[in-house]
Amino acid sequence: MQWLPEGWRPKVVAVDIDGTLTDDKKQLDTGAVEALRRLEDAGIPVVLATGNVRAITYGLWRFLNLSGPICCENGGVIWHKSWGEPIVRADGSEAKRAAEWLGKKIEGLDPNGIQTNRWRESEWCLFPDEDLAAVESNIASSEWSHLSVVRTGFAIHLMEPHLSKGTGLEVMFEKMGWSPDDLLCVGDAPNDLPMFEYAHWAVAVGGAFDVVKSAANVVSPHPHGATFGPLVDAILSNDSISE
Ligand SMILES: [Mg+2]
Repeated sequence: MQWLPEGWRPKVVAVDIDGTLTDDKKQLDTGAVEALRRLEDAGIPVVLATGNVRAITYGLWRFLNLSGPICCENGGVIWHKSWGEPIVRADGSEAKRAAEWLGKKIEGLDPNGIQTNRWRESEWCLFPDEDLAAVESNIASSEWSHLSVVRTGFAIHLMEPHLSKGTGLEVMFEKMGWSPDDLLCVGDAPNDLPMFEYAHWAVAVGGAFDVVKSAANVVSPHPHGATFGPLVDAILSNDSISE
């Protein structure tokens, strides 16, 4: 299949974690691990771009031995080893207060949300099976109506409106001196859509949300992390390209 535009090879690859490198049981695809190492070995930095928190993203980044920066909490927190401190683009207090308020408005909603909130620095996440429509309609008519409500398969994110994987990558790319024209990204869920818009080329994994498949340049015939073996083969063989 045609994975890439003719004669184009990415210089940076940004990869979502949950539902993309992992499956719906959060199990990491070991074939994807091998494939990302091949990209790094070929001098193509891999950027982890995720809704997950910095502590977890850092762990995966470290164990994969990646050279690229990380974009965490849907662009709320970005970090590269050469920068020292992370860039934290919101403090998350509004989102947390909105979650507490939702807990009083919607019966049964757990404002404490998902486990990783204890490490969350810029936003707040509710459990993925909370009533999304009720969350959206309550937020829309509240003092927090400016917050974004974004669903992944693993959480409902409450975020300040300037946060997204797209804006996070924009800040990162400016700092790294990179161009989005050289960026290929891979994702599965609605929080990946701003990253798809920012990147030159977007790949949806098999098992992605329909809205994400529609927005992608290419839809993988392989589920989740099984995408990466053939995709990286195509990237590394597409090298008859002028710089
Ligand atoms: Mg995902």
